[in-house]
Amino acid sequence: MQISIAIPLLNEEESLPELEAWIRRVMEANQFTYEILMVDDGSTDTSWSVIEQLSATNPNIRGIKFRRNYGKSAALHVAFEAAKGDVLITMDADLQDSPDEIPELYRMIKEDGYDIVSGWKKVRHDPISKTVPTKLYNAVTRMMSGVKLHDMNCGLKAYKSEVIKSIEVYGEMHRYIPVIAKWAGFSKIGEKVVQHQARKFGVTKFGSWKRFIRGPLDLLSITFVGKFGQRPMHLFGSIGMIMFMVGFFSALYIGINKLYRLSEGLPTILVTDNPFFYIALTSMLMGTMLFLTGFVSELVSRNAPNRNAYLIEREIQNENV
Ligand code: UDP
Ligand code: MG
Repeated sequence: MQISIAIPLLNEEESLPELEAWIRRVMEANQFTYEILMVDDGSTDTSWSVIEQLSATNPNIRGIKFRRNYGKSAALHVAFEAAKGDVLITMDADLQDSPDEIPELYRMIKEDGYDIVSGWKKVRHDPISKTVPTKLYNAVTRMMSGVKLHDMNCGLKAYKSEVIKSIEVYGEMHRYIPVIAKWAGFSKIGEKVVQHQARKFGVTKFGSWKRFIRGPLDLLSITFVGKFGQRPMHLFGSIGMIMFMVGFFSALYIGINKLYRLSEGLPTILVTDNPFFYIALTSMLMGTMLFLTGFVSELVSRNAPNRNAYLIEREIQNENV
């Protein structure tokens, strides 16, 4: 099978029939073999029965329904696991992304050899409360991750099947799939300017809370796990050590200074009346705590099932050996 199209959806009953018809038109015009994976992320409207009806007329539709709302990342994750196509396309269900982009995305993966091609909504039809924060957010992500995409969180993306089979998304991490993929060693990440429509039916499912609080926190986790996940002690241990040393030598200096002044008969104050003593103490305490955190993290990562998280790209099997 050439193409899997993954569509996470939450209460999108009005859009689905039009979306399905449009995808089918494009697929048939290009004679692709394909499947549409509709993942109902706990809709409370009639989305699921719409999916059932559509699948009765189109045998290429597969449906998965969550018992409750788990979020877009979870929906994408099951689709990643279930997908059978050589190329996986993800798109939103709300008709904001155009299925007409699929053939070119497919070509870029297949012929230009990209691991991922991300859509770029160069001209966006969203309210300004969304477009301005998104610009900022993309800039920060670009800086922190080194993945040079203009529109990291575009719902319309294409993946080589190898990519989606080797990464895991959870939480709010669907925003950073290219970053996760990059850490996993898939570095050929491309971009294609795509058409974008205003939402035709329904409302956006992402409030400010998820976009501004959970999103950035997940970026921190990803960056941390990507850089230090395999060796947390290198981060905690080094900061902890530095803090401890600074605190220790400051305290030592305060003590020696006091003894020196006493022996010389110079006027002195109590060590505990010296504010620097408390700073030194705090620094030592925090250093120790960071160090211990490092140890605990090492123990945790040693027990992680993927502690040797390498992905093998190719292998030579020689029959003579
Ligand atoms: N979605 C989902 N689960 C959620 C939230 C959203 O499956 O918890 C789906 C939603 O139905 C849509 C896609 O994710 O197909 C993108 O959501 P939306 O269009 O609301 O986001 P926006 O375009 O406003 O960023
Ligand atoms: Mg949308």
